[in-house]
Amino acid sequence: MDKQYDYLVVGAGLFGAVFAHEAALRGKRVKVIEKRAHVAGNIYTKEVAGIQVHQYGAHIFHTSDREVWNYVNQFAEFNRYTNSPVANYHGHMYNLPFNMNTFSELWGVRTPAEAAAKIAEQKAAAKVSGQPRNLEEQAIALIGTDIYHKLIKGYTEKQWGQKATELPAFIIRRLPVRYTYDNNYFNDTYQGIPIGGYTQIVEKMLAHPEIDVETNTDFFANKAHYLNAYPRVVFTGMIDQFFNYQLGELAYRSLRFETETLPVGNYQGNAVINYTDAETPYTRIIEHKHFEFGKGDPEQTVITREYPANWQRGDEPYYPVNNQTNNSLYKQYAKLAAQEPNVIFGGRLGQYRYYDMHQVIHAALVTVATEFDK
Ligand code: FAD
Ligand code: UDP
Repeated sequence: MDKQYDYLVVGAGLFGAVFAHEAALRGKRVKVIEKRAHVAGNIYTKEVAGIQVHQYGAHIFHTSDREVWNYVNQFAEFNRYTNSPVANYHGHMYNLPFNMNTFSELWGVRTPAEAAAKIAEQKAAAKVSGQPRNLEEQAIALIGTDIYHKLIKGYTEKQWGQKATELPAFIIRRLPVRYTYDNNYFNDTYQGIPIGGYTQIVEKMLAHPEIDVETNTDFFANKAHYLNAYPRVVFTGMIDQFFNYQLGELAYRSLRFETETLPVGNYQGNAVINYTDAETPYTRIIEHKHFEFGKGDPEQTVITREYPANWQRGDEPYYPVNNQTNNSLYKQYAKLAAQEPNVIFGGRLGQYRYYDMHQVIHAALVTVATEFDK
């Protein structure tokens, strides 16, 4: 290391990039290392056939936090995309999230009162009451048994590789339930897709004379050296790996993406179609051009099938599995982390939290405030 740095940032995802950017603005010298061949972590997008392909799954930016929205808008202009996935259950199409369109398609009901009565009836028949103990109980309490069986159970058990009765209730509370004819997947004030893709956001954050970026570099290939040579380290990889899994492994869920270019202009008519049955091995198909409103080649399209996969060491840990067992193991790791005064653990993997992008930006800005205004 010929240059003296103030910080080493491990991981060029959104958390690492926000931190590096803010540190550089405060005159700090920052080295960023990234084990992949590119920056941007899981929000990485790449142009194919005139459109931005979301390499690691569909990413829709949404937030109600005006500070976060203004922050991210410094680095890209956002289009007016509103996520409205459609579910395919054995060839029948239903609008998502769960709203009057879904209820009407499913039961022929027309009014919110009719829908509410139907759900109440199913909930009573299933004898679900009190505090939901798991995802299944939570889902039935919110929208009844028909929707649970057609739109949730199959998808959820494929996605997580576990029974819905073994999964935490909060996962299904990510999705709105609405008694209006509104197919917007999110309740947030601000939503969109960056025109020109997400990668530019991270590239612009890192384009600063005080920041040096090195890709294809794994922290664990030289951990002792890095900890020794840098006064402060921001680590956005897996917290259990940092501690050599000494308290045991945290659970993660992985994915496999199969992307192909097809010689048709419009394959499925929507950016996201979920396959909610148990038999189809993938959870969703993304047709990337629909994020960008008619951009790209009118004769071809790029689609990605998303297959859930078990995680084992060496695989990409796309999702933390935040059930009680893992959360309490994480707390033990967080205690070890507190004994590392020069290392900050951040992001989805460093904090072992099912964070969306806006939450990562918020968390990074909180870390920045603590680090520099203390
Ligand atoms: P990451 O993006 O994972 O970045 C961490 C980086 O650290 C990675 O680049 C990794 O390669 C690197 N790294 C790890 N270990 C090491 C090491 N040992 N040495 C060097 N580098 C290392 N959020 C939304 O808001 N909206 C969405 O629609 C949405 N859709 C999603 C769909 C999928 C399929 C997935 C998986 C996530 C989705 N998210 C979405 C969440 C979003 O991807 C995350 O919130 C965000 O990317 C997390 O940023 P991060 O910096 O914490 O982690
Ligand atoms: N989910 C479902 N059916 C759907 C879509 C989602 O049952 O058609 C459940 C599933 O358990 C999923 C969770 O809701 O893991 C959260 O969905 P979201 O779309 O937020 O997942 P992500 O985009 O983070 O994978």
